[in-house]
Amino acid sequence: VTDARPARLAALRARLLAREVDALLVSALPNVRYLTGFSGSHALLVVSARDVVLLTDVRYATQAEAEAGAVARVEIEPVSLWTRLWRVLPALAGVTRVGFESAHLAHRDAQRVLDQGARWTWWPLVDEVEALRERKDAGEVAAIRAAGALAGRALARALAEVRVGLSETAVAGILERALRDEGSEGFPFPTIVASGPQSALPHARPSRRVLARGDLLLLDFGAVVDGYVSDVTRTVVLGAASPEQAELHAVVREAQARARTGVRAGMSGRDADALARRYIDDRGWGEAFGHSLGHGIGLEVHEGPRLSRAAEAALPPGAVVTIEPGVYRPGWGGVRIEDDVWLGPDGPDPLTDFPRDLLEVG
Ligand code: ZN
Ligand code: ZN
Repeated sequence: VTDARPARLAALRARLLAREVDALLVSALPNVRYLTGFSGSHALLVVSARDVVLLTDVRYATQAEAEAGAVARVEIEPVSLWTRLWRVLPALAGVTRVGFESAHLAHRDAQRVLDQGARWTWWPLVDEVEALRERKDAGEVAAIRAAGALAGRALARALAEVRVGLSETAVAGILERALRDEGSEGFPFPTIVASGPQSALPHARPSRRVLARGDLLLLDFGAVVDGYVSDVTRTVVLGAASPEQAELHAVVREAQARARTGVRAGMSGRDADALARRYIDDRGWGEAFGHSLGHGIGLEVHEGPRLSRAAEAALPPGAVVTIEPGVYRPGWGGVRIEDDVWLGPDGPDPLTDFPRDLLEVG
């Protein structure tokens, strides 16, 4: 496997040149990880034309060198990364104009930059590293594919244990236990388990509500492999599905299939969204599909590109995106089906493949 980091750093440097800055101060941890491999929870990174300097604290002395030492000079700072920054920056040749990540720098830290960094010119930049992260390389796709397969195995194990009488929080525990048993490094977001009328809330939190026969049960969860996430939703029913439940599920399943197989790199996020939305609209459920079709995934569960009515940008080749239409009837319940696809050269390549039929469980 080739090391992707030198190419990522080169691509970032080309962007910085175009923005006419001499260096970028990277403070968003997923961006630090993408560029250097460092996976710790506390770091600042400076990338200039010649240098890559990673500042972190003593907890990560061994880990930082092991993960990032091949591409970055690692400096371990016992007190304050910012104090250290003011010692590191003057030593970097040719650096007078410095970009910072305006979407990620806390106001308090921006104040430090203005107070203590007055000898440099600071330039706010947005999405410079995030834009690179939208196009996944082979190693990233492989990690997400593994996270997708892992999520499917965990769901199969968990559904075998789901029963009427369990609470939503207990089901979340069963699913999270299965994810861990299958090898997930963590949970990319708080697991959503929503039963009965709760399933009409697109982002419900698991409650103490007890599953009853005839409930819809919506599970939205993911796995993490090598830092990369999957994001999957299935909606099942406890016992036998009613005709209404089956009908609504079939509408969402068909809308999802159209978008999942029809989405292409180069298409706008809006046109991708319309692949599912038009079908749902035509069946009279347009008002009940309030959220967007999907989002990019990678080191984070929500990243670019966006697939929504407002997304005019073209989906970049190599992006990994979710396809997750849903229909929600307040007080009754909702159905969402979510899969992850890689927008490869031959069209959409599914990275999650758990069955999409309306499963009757318990
Ligand atoms: Zn999800
Ligand atoms: Zn999602």
